[in-house]
Amino acid sequence: METTNNDCVFCKIVAGEIPAEKIYEDEDLFAFLDITPINAGHTLIIPKKHYENLFELPDDILKKISIKLRDLGASVKEAMNAEGLNIGMNNRPAAGQIVPHAHFHLIPRYIKDGYKHWGGRKYDEGEITKVAKEIRERIK
Ligand code: 5GP
Ligand code: ZN
Repeated sequence: METTNNDCVFCKIVAGEIPAEKIYEDEDLFAFLDITPINAGHTLIIPKKHYENLFELPDDILKKISIKLRDLGASVKEAMNAEGLNIGMNNRPAAGQIVPHAHFHLIPRYIKDGYKHWGGRKYDEGEITKVAKEIRERIK
């Protein structure tokens, strides 16, 4: 695992090579405003080291991020007078990940800001039981 990826825009932000509006920094984490926010205050929390997605994050970093999501989330919500907060993470292009450096979105939300929930589909007959079994069998 490389610490920094020379082609990575978020590694460049951590290194100060690309400007960003910093919100928070510690030894392991960095948080800054998303340049194309869903709403003002939309914040990204990232590990300083270059991990591509959730599945590469070590336990200690993931634990630190979880706490920061709660605490910075509260700050973002309060500062923006938001009525709600989305926490999101896109993993791999199929899930909408554009920047391949693991990051979590903190998005302040308002009742009338046009939020659209993802649509759901129904399971076919018997499918839900099979799917649950497939997942349970892979729990490590
Ligand atoms: P995702 O990879 O989860 O789809 O989202 C990447 C996010 O990073 C986008 O919301 C995008 O606006 C943000 N982003 C991409 N490049 C930059 C940048 O150079 N600076 C900042 N502040 N945000 C960026
Ligand atoms: Zn990176």
